[in-house]
Amino acid sequence: MRILLTGSAGFVGSHLGERLLEDGHEVVGADNYISGQRRNTAFLEDYPAFEALEADVSHAIAYQGPALDWVMHFASPASPPHYQKHPIETLMVGAQGTQNALVLAREHRAKFMLASTSEVYGDPLEHPQVETYWGNVNPIGIRGCYDEAKRYAEAITMAYHRTHGLDTRIIRIFNTYGPRMRADDGRVVTNFINQALAGEPLTVYGDGSQTRSFQYVSDLVEGIVRLMGVVHHEPVNLGNPDEYTIQAFAEIIRNRIAPAAEIRHLPMPQDDPKQRRPDITKARALLGWEPVTPLEQGLEATIAYFSKLLETAL
Ligand code: NAD
Ligand code: UDP
Repeated sequence: MRILLTGSAGFVGSHLGERLLEDGHEVVGADNYISGQRRNTAFLEDYPAFEALEADVSHAIAYQGPALDWVMHFASPASPPHYQKHPIETLMVGAQGTQNALVLAREHRAKFMLASTSEVYGDPLEHPQVETYWGNVNPIGIRGCYDEAKRYAEAITMAYHRTHGLDTRIIRIFNTYGPRMRADDGRVVTNFINQALAGEPLTVYGDGSQTRSFQYVSDLVEGIVRLMGVVHHEPVNLGNPDEYTIQAFAEIIRNRIAPAAEIRHLPMPQDDPKQRRPDITKARALLGWEPVTPLEQGLEATIAYFSKLLETAL
């Protein structure tokens, strides 16, 4: 198949692009590097079936090549510090970027996949989060630019499906980690690992009682590929139901890397969700999928990646 993937220089995009290329597909990767990395594109350029298209997909996707079978829209800043630094660009890539990707899919009679997020549930009042829950989002808070962009992106995807019969998929990705994240990404996994590797205090926001559930990237990619093979237009949660408090998670990483490191408490950011855990009943039934990578194993690979980056920087 020929697949146009937006956000291919990002963390998830580079792993997904690599898997699609390994599976024998052709991939056109569109990215403007607002939060991605050129070193991630370099992984994909090892494959002759990869083509890079440097473009701001909110402006236009100037693709002129052969017919596409899929348009997969993964472009968007995803870490809270990144999207809060670029709130307008984040809203635009969820709105105009999604529409441009949908128009392209329609022109090519291609299938379409949207990378949505557990953030559509906001600070959830239902726990765990099941796809039928509508969420609890503050539209004007500092996370609103991301949450509302993704909620709009889901709405316009369903509108193209209902109005034009476009064959669409929506995945709601829960916290995912692994190699090829940016060291300065600002998300909790990269912060804790890089702080511990540098012998600095690990920064826990608030009292650390808020929870998250961490999925290793290869499990996410497997779920995405399985959903490509199934016709289902409503959102599907993809995440790991193993839930940790952030305090416990800091202790796990500290104890692995630097047992003597301090855990320092900093103020809790506004609207930070207090709990998050996916209900993956739907993905289990529909895709025969569930995460298989234990936290220990995923952390080992991620720590090894960042240790190597640090060594090469020295
Ligand atoms: P990332 O920031 O590493 O990657 C996003 C990529 O999109 C970057 O390469 C960035 O440069 C590119 N991009 C952003 N705006 C663009 C634009 N206008 N035009 C072209 N390219 C643009 O983030 P990620 O973690 O890889 O996330 C990928 C997708 O998955 C995002 O849509 C994100 O919302 C979603 N998601 C990720 C997670 C997670 O835990 N990683 C969780 C939920 C949802
Ligand atoms: N967090 C933290 N210290 C950090 C970075 C994040 O305590 O250095 C917390 C953050 O407040 C949130 C959780 O870890 O409760 C996950 O944050 P992240 O930015 O990774 O993603 P989110 O799930 O909030 O989008």
